[in-house]
Amino acid sequence: MAEATMPGIHDHPVFRFAPSPNGLLHLGHALSAVLNHDMAKAAGGRFLLRMEDIDLTRCTPELEQAIYRDLRWLGLDWQTPVRRQSEHFPAYHEALARLDEMGLVYPAFLTRGEVKAKVTAHEAKGKIWPRDPDGSPLYPENDRNRSETERAAIIANGVRHAFRLDTTKALQMIGRPLTWTETGDGEQGEISADPAAWGDVILSRSDAPSSYHLSVTVDDAAQNVTNVVRGLDLFEATAVHRLLQELLELPQPIYHHHRLIVGPDGRKLSKSEGSTGLAAPRDQGLTPADIRRLVGL
Ligand code: GLU
Repeated sequence: MAEATMPGIHDHPVFRFAPSPNGLLHLGHALSAVLNHDMAKAAGGRFLLRMEDIDLTRCTPELEQAIYRDLRWLGLDWQTPVRRQSEHFPAYHEALARLDEMGLVYPAFLTRGEVKAKVTAHEAKGKIWPRDPDGSPLYPENDRNRSETERAAIIANGVRHAFRLDTTKALQMIGRPLTWTETGDGEQGEISADPAAWGDVILSRSDAPSSYHLSVTVDDAAQNVTNVVRGLDLFEATAVHRLLQELLELPQPIYHHHRLIVGPDGRKLSKSEGSTGLAAPRDQGLTPADIRRLVGL
């Protein structure tokens, strides 16, 4: 029984900070990056960086460079080479193919707009459409129930498609409840995972050869990550990652979901809403120590 029995303790701890280079880092990222770095140091472990750049339309090399600059300014150092998801599409494809061989994957043809229209029509009748923990409508059942002949005919017609996981079937295959070990700022201990709450999650998009859920799961295993430290906004998504880990027979890291930094409006900071980046405080002469204080470290 060489395996650690205390949560958070591993023989060779590996932590990672995994930003998407589709915007500049803000204070929320600074908290996540510095916390990962500090926890790795305290545990005598390694600190890795991963660029989650599967969305090639929004991620740019310039933003990636800006992330390195900000992290260096914060005084962080990380092991190289940095793993770039865009350089590992074959690994995600292999995982997808494995799930497909298990009969758990189906082509999904509805666009986001078509799903929205279906939900609106349904709810106009006074009925409720189920939503995932992030508030997005669950994917409708139509595509899951199609025959192979029907699927082939639609694809032959040139209709673009994503690939989704048949979550119900996947859970039946696993046949036992899933949990994860949590040491973060919210609920702690052995958390019961509820992947069904997410419905048939997307594994590969029509415009990108993987999805966040699939690539994050494959990468954490590929990089031997033992401790996932990230924001509480990804707490519930861990259920999906646990399911994929079980299906793909990958080890499960220990999870630590940290508090989020909120803006003046009380909402979590987001890149898309143009939340304050780290450039402004730097230009105003604030130091990395000030940033640590600002994020409560
Ligand atoms: N790339 C994700 C983000 O920037 C983080 C993924 C993770 O830490 O698991 O929000």
